[in-house]
Amino acid sequence: MNFAKQLLSVIGGVTTVKIATTADEILEPLKKTVYQELSDFDVLQEANRCLFCYDAPCIKACPTHIDVPSFIRKITTGNMTGSARVIFDANPMGASCARVCPTEELCEGACVLSEESHSIRIGDLQRYATDWVRERDISLFVAGPSTGKTVAIVGAGPAGLSTARDLARYGHKVTLFELREQLGGLNTYGIVPFRLPAEIPLWEAAQVTHLGVNANTGSKIGVDISLQALVDSYDAVVLAFGMGSVPRLNIPGEDLHGVWDAIDFVDKVKRGEDVGILGERVGVIGAGNTAIDAATCSRRLGVPHVTLYYRRGEQHMSAYKFEYEFAKQERVEYRWYSTPKRILGEGGRVTGVEFVKTRLDSDGMGGMRPIAMEGSEYIEPMDTVIRAIGQSKLSAMLQLDSIGVATRAGVVVVDDQFRTSNEKVFAAGDCTFTKGQAEAMVVEAAQQGKLAAASIHEYLSL
Ligand SMILES: Cc1cc2nc3c(=O)[nH]c(=O)nc-3n(C[C@H](O)[C@H](O)[C@H](O)COP(=O)(O)OP(=O)(O)OC[C@H]3O[C@@H](n4cnc5c(N)ncnc54)[C@H](O)[C@@H]3O)c2cc1C
Ligand code: SF4
Repeated sequence: MNFAKQLLSVIGGVTTVKIATTADEILEPLKKTVYQELSDFDVLQEANRCLFCYDAPCIKACPTHIDVPSFIRKITTGNMTGSARVIFDANPMGASCARVCPTEELCEGACVLSEESHSIRIGDLQRYATDWVRERDISLFVAGPSTGKTVAIVGAGPAGLSTARDLARYGHKVTLFELREQLGGLNTYGIVPFRLPAEIPLWEAAQVTHLGVNANTGSKIGVDISLQALVDSYDAVVLAFGMGSVPRLNIPGEDLHGVWDAIDFVDKVKRGEDVGILGERVGVIGAGNTAIDAATCSRRLGVPHVTLYYRRGEQHMSAYKFEYEFAKQERVEYRWYSTPKRILGEGGRVTGVEFVKTRLDSDGMGGMRPIAMEGSEYIEPMDTVIRAIGQSKLSAMLQLDSIGVATRAGVVVVDDQFRTSNEKVFAAGDCTFTKGQAEAMVVEAAQQGKLAAASIHEYLSL
């Protein structure tokens, strides 16, 4: 293992860089999770603060509408399996969501106690209850009586797995087609291990396969098997293939050694693969959750100076508040209103980036767009550049038009029942993500999967 060789340690507020000697030493900071562990006493005390509101606002604010007062009440009576059942019934990704949901913007943000004191720590209680059953490997649900109908699902991330779980509970025979070796999508491969260790989504996926769902991993639809073959062989098909890699910046120097795609970078780190020497300075381009994950990951790998560059201002960044706060705690630095113009190199390796300052101007459609201010160029020395400017669309690669599925700007078009323009084909999750309509987040993908399953069940019951 030849990970970034330096390992950061903070002793008494003084940052020192020491040479890590073993793989375990290098990987240790990646394993140290960000959430606070709760004792049984803390949990009971927190659960007993809940007012168990009638018509509770937290239920409405949760995209999967978990009956929060019910699961918390069950914790107070020591019925942990019952509590977890309430959570997972509404949200098949309940253990992952307990760790990655932007709770202050969802359930906790709606808690009536937030006005007087502080909200109930719903995410932490949810983590406690779901961990309780996970640690004991308790299976909560069973498959429904067989209907004889078959469904193929393309992609086994939160959307595909949630659809599969509910279809199996309805009694349909489900087969997942997943190109990676393991199930879970970005929960397993994309979100940094110190926010979401892979063992959590892998256990959630096992809960799904335990219901008799077939999982064909290492199987790329569109290459190994055509979409048409699925449409011909199954009673219904679900598209849940998410989004792709980070788009290129399209600037000179992008192919130099030391330029990374953020998703690829986190993926390798999460799987314990070698990412080589990152150097003293890492620059991350972007300000969404992918950028935060790449930046904090670099810090935990021991890089002393990690800076995030964004072409708009702090108030425009798309990362959640909790992610931004976390990155600040991890000492990630920021440069606002800056966009890269070219990547500089020597001997085939990155040495710096030339940026140009930006300002916002009207885009003529009611929004604001960043404009480069010529003459404001500046150079930042850098050893590694990580691009994190969103994710590309995969629909072109899958040739959806070959099965009569319409797309708009690369996004699968669905109606409010998650039906596509082909009556046998449904879609859910990030592959249907359109800015301004829903958030690309795990809890949203889980909810869409559930709703798609209900819609497919209705279609198959006709
Ligand atoms: C770095 C990062 C950090 C994030 N942090 C958060 C967070 O803190 N909180 C939050 O709520 N959300 C977060 N998100 C967003 C969240 O991960 C996604 O919204 C969610 O995973 C979408 O689920 P999905 O099932 O639609 O797609 P994915 O999770 O992308 O799953 C799609 C699956 O389809 C598979 N696939 C693709 N093409 C094919 C094919 N041709 N054949 C077979 N299989 C295929 C993929 O391998 C993948 O497993 C983050 C995303 C990233 C990238
Ligand atoms: S799934 Fe997320 S939003 Fe819903 S109650 Fe749990 S932590 Fe809150």
